[in-house]
Amino acid sequence: MQGVFTALGLSVLERGWLSSNNIVFQAAGRVGSCVVDTGYVQHAPQTLHLVQRALGGERLDRVLNTHLHSDHCGGNAALQSVWQCEVSVPEASWDAVQHWDQRLLSFEATDQRCERFQAHRALAPGSRVQMGTATWEVVAAPGHDPEAMMFFQRDQRVLISADALWEERLAIIFPELLGSEGFRAAHGALDMIEQLAPRVVIPGHGRPFTDVASALASSRRRLQVFEEAPARHQAYAERALTMFHMLEQRCMPRTSLVAWLATTPIFVRMVGDVVGAVASEARTAHAEEVVERLVYDGLLLESGAGDLQVR
Ligand SMILES: [Zn+2]
Repeated sequence: MQGVFTALGLSVLERGWLSSNNIVFQAAGRVGSCVVDTGYVQHAPQTLHLVQRALGGERLDRVLNTHLHSDHCGGNAALQSVWQCEVSVPEASWDAVQHWDQRLLSFEATDQRCERFQAHRALAPGSRVQMGTATWEVVAAPGHDPEAMMFFQRDQRVLISADALWEERLAIIFPELLGSEGFRAAHGALDMIEQLAPRVVIPGHGRPFTDVASALASSRRRLQVFEEAPARHQAYAERALTMFHMLEQRCMPRTSLVAWLATTPIFVRMVGDVVGAVASEARTAHAEEVVERLVYDGLLLESGAGDLQVR
């Protein structure tokens, strides 16, 4: 795997939770250096440091984003402030970035943060981009995010899959939480990956992997479970949203976490669907259940004073 990465002039910075992986490409001939995805804003100083080190002191010319979730583009502004690099975003996200419409950009719905950045180019499915020593195809990957793109290098059969395919587990299918179709699109993205037949996948989270068939099979199984029981998908999303916030906050009073969850727009929308009422008591009661379950499962630890922290 490493030999292929070296030939392509790329290195994978595998990140922990809150931040997506960053894929750094060295400059090659007339092709400037670039990075695919930049992590969460809270980790931006670390991202800057890691990218600087990966480039060995050379400048960063371009940033490309697979999609504009906060954990994939949160370092854009910091990198741009140092290198004035050009940023490419999926074409469907172009207008939202130009107007910095936080409602369309999902940061408002999830109450996650992202420092404003400038975009210069739109990535269209079916187009090609030069990164490192090779040409990469831009491939649409709806499902997790309707606007998401992947990058495929056909000669070496390497796929940068972002959140369309992970080695284990399955990313949240966001449109389904907002009353739109998403499961069918996610199946379509998995079918597309199967057709591309990559031999190496660099996911948005977790290590690069080669057993693509088993990752596809497990994603399809999980997708089917969620399709058959959308409430399980919603419960998964509620937990992930809450844990993301706690990983960001590290420690907070239980009452504050419940109040935060009960008023976060995407949660309000989800609970409205399940409880059948938007009454704030119903929302708060449901938020309490979500938090209680995370404590019960040992993912959150509670101190005597009623503070919660991530285990
Ligand atoms: Zn995402």
